[in-house]
Amino acid sequence: VLEIDALCDILEDQLGLDPTRPDISRALAMLVDESSNSKHCDYDHFVRMMVDASNPIQRALTGKIAIPDFVDFCKEVVRIFHDVKKITDGELCNYIPELQKTSQDSFSVALCTIDGQQFAFGDTKHEFAMQGCVAPFLYLAALEEYGIAAVHKMIGREPSGGSFDAVRLNAYDKPHNPMVNTGAITLCSMLHPEMDAADRFGWMASFLQDIGGGKNCRVGFNQPVYLSEKESGDQNFALAYYMKGKGVFGSQGGNLEQFVDLYFQLCATSVTCSSLASMAATLASGGRCPLSGKQKLKTVHVKNCLSGMYSCGMFDYSGAWAFNVGLPAKSGVSGALMIIVPNLMGLVVYSPRLNRYGHSVRGIEFCKRLSKKFSLSVFDQIVAGTSRMSKSKEHTPSAKNTTT
Ligand code: GLU
Repeated sequence: VLEIDALCDILEDQLGLDPTRPDISRALAMLVDESSNSKHCDYDHFVRMMVDASNPIQRALTGKIAIPDFVDFCKEVVRIFHDVKKITDGELCNYIPELQKTSQDSFSVALCTIDGQQFAFGDTKHEFAMQGCVAPFLYLAALEEYGIAAVHKMIGREPSGGSFDAVRLNAYDKPHNPMVNTGAITLCSMLHPEMDAADRFGWMASFLQDIGGGKNCRVGFNQPVYLSEKESGDQNFALAYYMKGKGVFGSQGGNLEQFVDLYFQLCATSVTCSSLASMAATLASGGRCPLSGKQKLKTVHVKNCLSGMYSCGMFDYSGAWAFNVGLPAKSGVSGALMIIVPNLMGLVVYSPRLNRYGHSVRGIEFCKRLSKKFSLSVFDQIVAGTSRMSKSKEHTPSAKNTTT
């Protein structure tokens, strides 16, 4: 006889899976031996149920899961966390007054795999504004609503070579890419102009929540950050006026205040490390949300988004980032750093002290060390002797420490 509670503990504590997740709780319900009581499962019945390879419990228990050695992997995450915590370099974002009030030492990390294994460590309850981390989702929202051609009629795909807020357009007088401020503000000009302001923000907030798995995914709004950025947002207004002058918003120019206002609102969307990591996991799995099991985004849109994050997501540090970490990423001046390990997991580090590019100092260091330890770079496969910890679900080596 198998104790269902004991099985739930294994799923949760050893594998990071939430037993109340719809597909897992359905599979658990099927195990229950109704002739005895709802807490037990007869051994023969258990064996019969485990024949089905699509059963999420079967997959988890037989190692056909993104990170089979989840406990060991998380221990390594914690070890790197403690090492990186010693770093106190960097400054809080200095041009949004409200962000100056953030606790400098706050530090958290969270991850969610493509099979929905979750882990979070540090100040996990702390909520922070997404800031630039919202840009990839804004891009995806526009792709889903209006299609690739319509979006790229307005915005290019090349790295700008400049900072996130550079007053600069490409040779065709378009924003260089969707990740820099000019691109993100232009996306705000496209997104549901027919709605009123509250509905427009609400639409985007539920888009984000849906991608992160639904109502358990925390998505809020940080009013002080919004007001503070709006009051001190001259640079972004300047970008918008410059773009209006160059005809980026069409010959009519559009409602510039509205575009910038939506941009500030979306930058002030607040999340926890875990809620942002669940959104990131949906990108890692090609648009299928691992927590709800639903295909939320077109795969081709996710592919475009990851390509953009890879080449442009870290602004004028994107080249060094590709060398050192080698993964699609996006940072925000609040101190959030979101990375996608395609086909493996989404990971978020939050620590608000920034380097001169506007990226979290600890975030960068954490990702460098994690990528090196587990050979996570998209190019590590060509380095002799390295193999990513989980190349496919059929191949389940333990987390392999190939570098020292
Ligand atoms: N709201 C910030 C700004 O426009 C976003 C920049 C970022 O986080 O990349 O300055």
